[in-house]
Amino acid sequence: MTTKLIFFTGGVISSVGKGVTAASVGRLLKARGFDVTIQKLDPYLNVDPGTLSPYQHGEVFVLDDGSETDLDLGHYERFCDLHLKKSSTVTTGQVYEEVINRERRGDYLGGTIQVIPHITNEIKRRVDLLSHSTDADIALIEVGGTVGDIESQPFLEAIRELRNDLGREDTAFVHITWLPYLRATNETKTKPTQHSVRELRSVGILPDVIIARSDYPVEKELSSKIAQFCDVREDAVIPLVTADLLYEIPLVLEQAGIADILLDRLNLTPKRPPVMDGWQRMVAELKKPKPSIKIGLVGKYVELHDAYLSVREALNHAALYYGVDVDLRWISSTEIEKNNRKNLLADLDCIIVPGGFGSRGVEGKILTAQYARENKVPYLGLCLGLQVMMIEFARNVLGLEDANSSEFDKLTPYPVIDLMIEQRGLSQMGGTMRLGLYPCSLKPGTKSADLYGTDLIQERHRHRYEFNNAYRQKFEENGMVFAGLSPDGVLVEMAELKDHPYMIASQFHPEFLSRPNHAHPLFLGLIEAACRKAGLPVQKNNLDFTN
Ligand code: GLN
Repeated sequence: MTTKLIFFTGGVISSVGKGVTAASVGRLLKARGFDVTIQKLDPYLNVDPGTLSPYQHGEVFVLDDGSETDLDLGHYERFCDLHLKKSSTVTTGQVYEEVINRERRGDYLGGTIQVIPHITNEIKRRVDLLSHSTDADIALIEVGGTVGDIESQPFLEAIRELRNDLGREDTAFVHITWLPYLRATNETKTKPTQHSVRELRSVGILPDVIIARSDYPVEKELSSKIAQFCDVREDAVIPLVTADLLYEIPLVLEQAGIADILLDRLNLTPKRPPVMDGWQRMVAELKKPKPSIKIGLVGKYVELHDAYLSVREALNHAALYYGVDVDLRWISSTEIEKNNRKNLLADLDCIIVPGGFGSRGVEGKILTAQYARENKVPYLGLCLGLQVMMIEFARNVLGLEDANSSEFDKLTPYPVIDLMIEQRGLSQMGGTMRLGLYPCSLKPGTKSADLYGTDLIQERHRHRYEFNNAYRQKFEENGMVFAGLSPDGVLVEMAELKDHPYMIASQFHPEFLSRPNHAHPLFLGLIEAACRKAGLPVQKNNLDFTN
């Protein structure tokens, strides 16, 4: 069977939730027994988002194979419980790079290279590559940006051609738009949606489903009006009111019947009646009133919560298993440097220091690690969070004054964190970090090994610096346990502190592998320790959200 394609486009404004919508549709199709895969087509010219500041598009998500991707790939993996590969992420930068390299090689000798057909053909080839690299029955393809943007045009042209190439029965289009609300007249307006659909039709794409996002309930007359003006079946205009809980969206879309409308369009019969029991149980658990634990997330991009999206999700997943809500306090590490840190960190049940780059705010993170160690506050350090834990220990326990990472102080007398040997002499910044899945052996008898329940793990990485082994012995003699090492014993992957309720850090990013149906052991450990600190009953629920 050929892979059928469902395309998702966005209208009116950006950030309407195309990624979550596509991921939710994926979940609903999986619930009917289909194998699905997902791809994001990003219209920006960067080859990948790896060199972008998190302020631009939120966190950079990392796949098993080391691809640095848009955060929507995280939604896809979490909602559909998939492990995606490089073929799931395409940017304009990659497409042009490929075409220009071919031109320089002489592959097109004699030809003029143009957006149509060379760029559009390369986009189509990449969609095709995705379908052929998996056994998926259905591939969901999200076009980034908003219809009408100059840079989206080649993508829209390519997907229009794909409908022609493959035929109507093998392709469907979902358009996600925004209905603005006017307070002056107390009205929700459909006109921008009509314009956006007109724009889409002008490039030859007729949407099969319109998802009308809104902050307020959408009356039946409004969806009928959209159906009439946009030439879409009435039941295929699906209002989607902003939800408090992302994980509720698949249930809302299920109720609206989106999966059946799309399957009908694609002439597919469900392989089994939808099984969503696990997901429903999960949402019901999430909605139950629960005691909450106060978690301080100390980072430098805290104004933009999407910069730490996977960390936040991983905390939520783990909290669910302990029957608690996460009261997440976003704490700026630069504020900790300026103000009295006790005021900012007091009263927390646990602290998390996530990844980061560059020296801004790093001293605040070092002070945070010191506070957590001295006050025995549960602490989880992720990547940079491990590095600052080591720097703090070196300075304040080992007495190595001015110890630092050579990332922040090239002349430090004690570079306890140093550039990895393989990284030295690299001149290219893009895609050259230590990226993706690497194995790590856990030391038996450590907290980390206990939490994982195994002695060999695989986790996703994204870093250039590492713990400097010249200091390993000194650290160990003073109470630091290197609980996880690369299997050859060379690279420190995990560290934990003796005589502390929970001070654990990893050089890798566990947040990228956490799923609602299997919370990550390191986050579970943190939440358990936080519950103890908060004086809450510590009981891990035996929840099964698998289906
Ligand atoms: N800047 C540090 C490094 O490159 C940490 C990276 C991170 O936290 N992802 O090693």
